[in-house]
Amino acid sequence: MRFSSTALLVACMASSASAFAPRQAPRTTTAVYQSTAAASDTEEERKMRKKDDRLRMMKSDQFHRRGFKEVREQVEDTMSEQFKSELVEQFKENNYVIDKDGVKVYLAKDFGFCWGVERSIALAYEAVEHFPDKTVHITNELIHNPEVNDNLSDMNVQFIEKIDGDAARKDFEKVKDGDVVILPAFGASYEEMDMLDKKNVEIVDTTCPWVSKVWNTVDMHQKKGLTSIIHGKYAHEETVATVSFCEDYICVKDMKEAEMVVDYIVNGGDKEAFMKYFKNAISEGFDPDTMLTKVGLANQTTMYKKETRAIGQLFQKAMMKKYGPVDAKSHYMEFDTICDATQERQDAVHDLVENAETLGLDFILVVGGWDSSNTAHLLEIPVKAGIRAFHINKAECIGADNTITHRNMEGEIVTDTLVEDLSKDVVMGVTSGASTPDAAVQSSLGNIFMLKQLQEAN
Ligand code: SF4
Repeated sequence: MRFSSTALLVACMASSASAFAPRQAPRTTTAVYQSTAAASDTEEERKMRKKDDRLRMMKSDQFHRRGFKEVREQVEDTMSEQFKSELVEQFKENNYVIDKDGVKVYLAKDFGFCWGVERSIALAYEAVEHFPDKTVHITNELIHNPEVNDNLSDMNVQFIEKIDGDAARKDFEKVKDGDVVILPAFGASYEEMDMLDKKNVEIVDTTCPWVSKVWNTVDMHQKKGLTSIIHGKYAHEETVATVSFCEDYICVKDMKEAEMVVDYIVNGGDKEAFMKYFKNAISEGFDPDTMLTKVGLANQTTMYKKETRAIGQLFQKAMMKKYGPVDAKSHYMEFDTICDATQERQDAVHDLVENAETLGLDFILVVGGWDSSNTAHLLEIPVKAGIRAFHINKAECIGADNTITHRNMEGEIVTDTLVEDLSKDVVMGVTSGASTPDAAVQSSLGNIFMLKQLQEAN
């Protein structure tokens, strides 16, 4: 297979939207769209209307995305009880350091629940309170956090099951007339929204506005005749939703895959091998010979942000090489869809890593759901810097026998010794993903304090 590595990084190049000549003639968008299934619609027209369709659905009286004021205060109290942590408040008062029971802990300056996740939980909880007599469903996990999803189960919210574990296929049979359906923080696919729109159900949309921003970006790509290069994992729920709003796309999960695509753009190569490798990550009818001539970049909001930027630069450079510096502008387009919350949490871990030696850190603990992409990326930063680091999803992963059961960078769940020498003071860093409540950090640290207390007592 001919996918040699192409290490190409250049400074950012400003892109001008007006420079884009569409690959296909753009259709005129209709101001008021009447029906998703108009008899005259061709498949092509239907695809080009996705954003207009989404906006039309959102205007329905049965579509709710601002929450329900009358239960807001009650929900705020519930969330505070479930998720806040006294210990984390102490960290904030003590410049993010606590020294307790022979354990010195440095908390990353940005960590835990982001604005989008808090908003999503609040909207979901408010929906349950507002519709007390209705059956409430959710199309997926609300966020990737086991406690939050367990809370929703306890509140009788029904999780719509995936068919054969496929995020793109779900069993909606149980959703009946008059039910309530919650859309999670990372959104729902166009097909799901369209299908729900045709049912007589109340839709509560908790999609984070940062995710909608990515959808608007890929919509712009398709209107300008660009293929969307999506930096994301093709099976992740957010990416499944994002690609549903695209026409032509290819997902690249990391720099290695981006380099494979760039190599094909610049040098061509074995088309069959290319198609085989990316078979699950491309749009229907994808042709790398014709669909990689004009591209736009978008990302899954929780990816490693420095990598998204580097991938963007890689494509810019490739287009410059192939079409020359002047024409390259009409072959590559990029808008910033990098979510601030993800960026800030990653920057804060970088700070811990850069100061690890000065602080004398033995390890860094990363707390968050094992399915949580943004949490997994927080782990990568210390591991790649050669610092011991562990990603746990709950406090119980820390055993009283000084073991830790954690998810490593390869995605395996393994058990290791936590503290190499318990007779000495422990110095550690801690952070948590954007979908992790502070209470989970507190209980995890509580187990480490306990470990040290037990050791001292023996
Ligand atoms: S991490 Fe970013 S995109 Fe995801 S929910 Fe939070 S604010 Fe929204």
